[in-house]
Amino acid sequence: MSSSGGIQIPGRLPLLLTHEGVLLPGATMRISVDTARNMQLVKSRLLKGTSLKSTIIGVIPNTKDPDHDSEELPTLHSIGTAGLAVQVVGSNWPKPHYTLLITGLCRFRVAQLLKERPFPLAEVVQLDQLEQLPNAPDGELGELGERFYQAAVQLVGMLDMSVPVVAKLRRMLDSLPRETLPDVLASMIRTTNKEKLQVLDAVSLEERFKKTLPLLSRQIEGLKLLQKTRKPRSDDDKKVLAGRKGGVFPGRQFFLDEEAEDDDGDDTTVLERKVKGANMPEPALRVCLKELKRLKKMPQSMPEYALTRNYLELMVELPWSKSTTDCLDIRAARVLLDNDHYAMEKLKRRVLEYLAVRQLKSTLKGPILCFVGPPGVGKTSVGRSIARTLGREFHRIALGGVCDQSDIRGHRRTYVGSMPGRIINGLKTVGVNNPVFLLDEVDKLGKSLQGDPAAALLEVLDPEQNHSFTDHYLNVAFDLSQVLFIATANTTASIPPALLDRMEVLQVPGYTQEEKVEIAHRHLIPHQLEQHGLTPQQLQIPPHTTQDIISRYTREAGVRSLERKIGAICRAVAVKVAEGHKMSKQESSSHQQGQLAAEEKETGGDEAQKESADLTAPPEMPILIDPTALKDILGPPLFEMEVSERLTLPGVAIGLAWTPLGGEIMFVEASRMEGDGQLTLTGQLGDVMKESAHLAISWLRSNAKLYQLTNTAGHLDPMEGTDIHLHFPAGAVTKDGPSAGVTIVTCLASLFSGRLVRSDVAMTGEITLRGLVLPVGGIKDKVLAAHRAGLKRLIIPKRNEKDLEEIPAHIREELDFVAASSVDQVLNAAFSGGFPATTNPLTHPHLASKL
Ligand code: ADP
Repeated sequence: MSSSGGIQIPGRLPLLLTHEGVLLPGATMRISVDTARNMQLVKSRLLKGTSLKSTIIGVIPNTKDPDHDSEELPTLHSIGTAGLAVQVVGSNWPKPHYTLLITGLCRFRVAQLLKERPFPLAEVVQLDQLEQLPNAPDGELGELGERFYQAAVQLVGMLDMSVPVVAKLRRMLDSLPRETLPDVLASMIRTTNKEKLQVLDAVSLEERFKKTLPLLSRQIEGLKLLQKTRKPRSDDDKKVLAGRKGGVFPGRQFFLDEEAEDDDGDDTTVLERKVKGANMPEPALRVCLKELKRLKKMPQSMPEYALTRNYLELMVELPWSKSTTDCLDIRAARVLLDNDHYAMEKLKRRVLEYLAVRQLKSTLKGPILCFVGPPGVGKTSVGRSIARTLGREFHRIALGGVCDQSDIRGHRRTYVGSMPGRIINGLKTVGVNNPVFLLDEVDKLGKSLQGDPAAALLEVLDPEQNHSFTDHYLNVAFDLSQVLFIATANTTASIPPALLDRMEVLQVPGYTQEEKVEIAHRHLIPHQLEQHGLTPQQLQIPPHTTQDIISRYTREAGVRSLERKIGAICRAVAVKVAEGHKMSKQESSSHQQGQLAAEEKETGGDEAQKESADLTAPPEMPILIDPTALKDILGPPLFEMEVSERLTLPGVAIGLAWTPLGGEIMFVEASRMEGDGQLTLTGQLGDVMKESAHLAISWLRSNAKLYQLTNTAGHLDPMEGTDIHLHFPAGAVTKDGPSAGVTIVTCLASLFSGRLVRSDVAMTGEITLRGLVLPVGGIKDKVLAAHRAGLKRLIIPKRNEKDLEEIPAHIREELDFVAASSVDQVLNAAFSGGFPATTNPLTHPHLASKL
C-alpha cells in the first residue's frame, strides 16, 4: 500500500460506480462489476486482449442508488478514489461479470462530467497530495496523528498475532506515514458504508483524523467487551467471532475484516461438499479435489483465488450425470410437428424418419441434420419442436461471426478473463447432459489467427471423439455423446467442407404468399396476441389484411418481418385496449366518415363499409384491422409501385437473383455516354458478372444490324465512341453468378434500341457468345420472388422448365412462363411487340397493351 505522496493522477478519469462498498486510498478492495456501464469500462480501459492494462480509474461510491443498472446515470458522489486495478477476473457465471481487485491511490473531486456513455468520463482534481503531515509531531495535527497511531497500536495489540492479517497490520503501522493511517484503518475495521463515506468525504487531514478516531475507539471498546464475555470453550469463542451477522452485539459490528477468511473457511467446506456431491467422473473429481486443496491454502486476496473458485463453482454446476429421459412416441411427434408448423411437409417427413431411426437404433451416431434455408422459414422452430417431441432441453448456440476456436473450446485458465466455451456454457445453462443443441448459422463461422472454430466444432460433432470433449477452461473431458446436435444455415456454399461432410442437408425453401397467410393465421397471429395479452375478441386481422401486409409491407422468403409487423399491430391495439378503447360517439362517427372516403378510393366496395363500421364499434367489439387501420399503424406501404416506376426509361430490366436469403428481384440499369468503348460496372458484384456483361455486349454488337442497334450518333455499332455504365442497384448481397446474362442483354438491347422493357417481366438465364441460353439454379426461389413482387411474365431457360414442377400449381397458373433457348427468344418476350419490333408499339398503343 502506498501513500499518495508521489502519485500524479491524470486530469481525466473514467469512472467506475460501485454500489457495494467504499474504496479508500491505501486500501485494496474486491469489486464485482456487472452493470453495462462498468463492464464497458473494464473492457475498453482495463483489458487489452486478455491481459491487464495498468490504467488509473476513478472509483465513485454509489451507495444511495440501489438501481445501479438503470439507463440514467445516477447523481454522482462528488468525491471518489483514484484506483489501480491489480487484477481482473472474468466469469460468465451466474451472469457475465468481472471481479476487480483495486488498490486505492488518492482522493479526487469530480470537476466536470465530460460524457456519460458508454461509461462516465470526468475531469477530476486530485486531492490528497495537497496535504501532508508536518514533519515535527507537534501542533494539533501532529498530536492527532500521534493519538491515532497509539490507538491503532492498542487495537492491534488486542488481536491474535497468529492471524497473518494482524501480523501484517502490526508491521504496517510502523512503516506507513501517519497521514495514511485513517484511510487504511477505516477500511480494515468494521465500519458501515456510511461511515466509510464520511471518511472519504473528509478531505482535510485534520477532519479525517477526527472522523476516524471514534471509529477506532469504538472497535477497541467492542473488543474489550468481547474479551470480557468470552467463554472459555473455544468452540463458542469461534461462534462469537463468526457471529458478525448480528448475534452478540446487535446493531453494532465490532469485528475485523479478517472474519471474511473465517467465512471463507466455511465456503470452501460447502464447496467441498458440492464437489463430492456433483457426481462427476473420477478424473474430474481428482482435479477438483486438488484445486480445492490449493484454494484452502490461498489467501483471499491472491489473484488466483477468485479464478480457482469460479472454476470449482462451474465444475460442480455442470450436469456430469444429470439427464432427462427420452419419451419419443412417433405418432405424438407427428402430431406435434404438424401442430407447430404449417406446410414444410418434406422437412417434417424427413425429421420424423430421422427420429424413428434413432428410436430403433437408440443411438445418435449418424449424420447431423442441417436445415438450410432463408431466415424466418422455421428452422429454429423445428429444432425446438424436435426437443419437445423427445422431452429434451433445448439450447441455441449462435455461431454467426464466431471466428475464434476458444469460443467453442474455451480459454485456458491461465488467462485473465478466461471462460469456458459455448458448448460447456450451454450445458451449464440447460443443466442436463443430453439436450438438443441447435448450432445456428454454421455457414457464418469465421476464421482467424486464433485457430479455426470449424475444426473445434468438428471435434464436438464427431461421435468417435465427442465422448471425451475437452474444453480448454475445464481441462478435463466432458462426455457430449448424449447431446443431439442440429445445425442451421442460410446456404451450404460457405459451410466448411469437412463440417458439411458430417451433415445431412435438408432444404427449407421460402413460402408462397398463400402459405404465409395460413402460417400467419394459424401460428403467428395467435402467438402474437398471446404475447401482447390480447384475445381474438379484442383484435381481428382478416386474411386480406394479412395479404396486404405480406405483399406491401414485407419482401422476404420467410415470415420473420411478417411476424414483426403483426407484433407492431398488436402493440398499437394493446395501447388502444389499455386506454379503454373508448371513443366518443362524435369522434367515432367523424372517424368513420373520413375512413370511408379513404376506403372507397382503395376498394370502393360494400365490404369496406362493413369493416370501417367495425373499427369504430363499441368497446366490446373487436378492433378489426382494415386497410386504413393498417396504414395508420404501419405507415405507408414499403413496397409498391417500385417496379413500374423504375421501368420508365430505356436501359432497365428486371433480373432474378438467388441469395442465401431467398430469391430476389434485381433491377439492372444501363446508361451510355461519349467515350471510347469502356465498360463500367457498379453495385455489389463479382467477376462472373463482368464476364456476362462482356458476352452480352459482344453478342449485341455482332447482331447490331439485325436489331437496328445504334450508338448515340445513329451508327450501327452501339459501342462506337461510347462508354457503357451498368449498375446493379438495391441489395447488399453479392450477386455473383452467370444467371444475370439474359437480363444484361435485355437491358442493353433496350438502351441501344431506345425501347422500354415490359414492366411486368423478369428473367434469368446464362448466355453464351453464340446467343444460347443456358440453365441456372434456384428457379423455385426466383419464381416465388417474382410472384411476390407482382410480376406476371417470367423468362427462364428452356432447360429449367422441369424445375417448374416444384412450384405450387396456383402460382404457376398466375404466371406466364416463357422458356427460351436463345437470346432472340428472350428479347422477343421481353419487349412489347417483340424484338425487333414487328410494329412500333409506341405508335400503336392499342396493340402494345394486347401483347
Ligand atoms: P429461422 O430459424 O429459419 O430463421 P424461425 O424458426 O426463427 O426461423 O422462425 C421465425 C418465426 O416464424 C417463428 O416464430 C416460427 O415459429 C415461425 N414460423 C416459421 N415457419 C413456420 C411454419 N411453417 N409454421 C408455423 N410457424 C412458422
